Amino acid sequence: MKLRIGHLYGNLLNTYGDNGNLLMLQYCAKQRGVQVETDIVSLNQPFNPNDYDLVFFGGGQDYEQYIVSKDIQAKADAIKTYIDNDGVLLAICGGYQLLGHYYVDAKGKKISGISAIDYYTLNQDNNRFIGDITIVDEETGDTYNGFENHNGRTFLGDGVQPLGIVQVGKGNNGEDKTEGARYKNVFCSYFHGPLLVRNNHLAERIVDLAIKNHQKKNLLA
Ligand code: GLN
Repeated sequence: MKLRIGHLYGNLLNTYGDNGNLLMLQYCAKQRGVQVETDIVSLNQPFNPNDYDLVFFGGGQDYEQYIVSKDIQAKADAIKTYIDNDGVLLAICGGYQLLGHYYVDAKGKKISGISAIDYYTLNQDNNRFIGDITIVDEETGDTYNGFENHNGRTFLGDGVQPLGIVQVGKGNNGEDKTEGARYKNVFCSYFHGPLLVRNNHLAERIVDLAIKNHQKKNLLA
């Protein structure tokens, strides 16, 4: 079996070592005897929802996010179809923000998201949330440790669960104790670089979901 990973804008949104998550996904898949093939899907390239078992969308800086926000509108319907069909997706920070309605950047410019999931992101004046963070995933009881670094303050809509509840750190907005988002098989987080490396249960869960989807698709084919 070969898992196909689509790496959205991997050549633009790749700050803070987020791509390390791909190494961890590959490692977990290998431990299960599963090969992985990764494609970058970037500017002016189509995203075909049927081509992938797992999609990764990393974080980035405002400048790159602006470029991506313009391009991703043409892929919005395909990404929403992928999500609606229970596609597994991991989005970090800047990628996380762009799956929502919009992101107001550090200079106050409103950057459009694709409204795939119901949340929006505001900026904050002369401040970033930077530091170690610990959350508890209420779905599994797992504790996740990581590092956050973002200006954006994200507010979740009613039907969207957080990835976890903040024990230490700021999380989505520094106010409501939520961190990240969970919707269908989508996992979003502000945790940078080491999210999956430091939290192997989450990596295993994501890979197992992707394997399950791959098998389901092959049975139907
Ligand atoms: N530019 C966004 C922010 O500051 C995302 C940053 C990131 O991906 N680290 O909130």
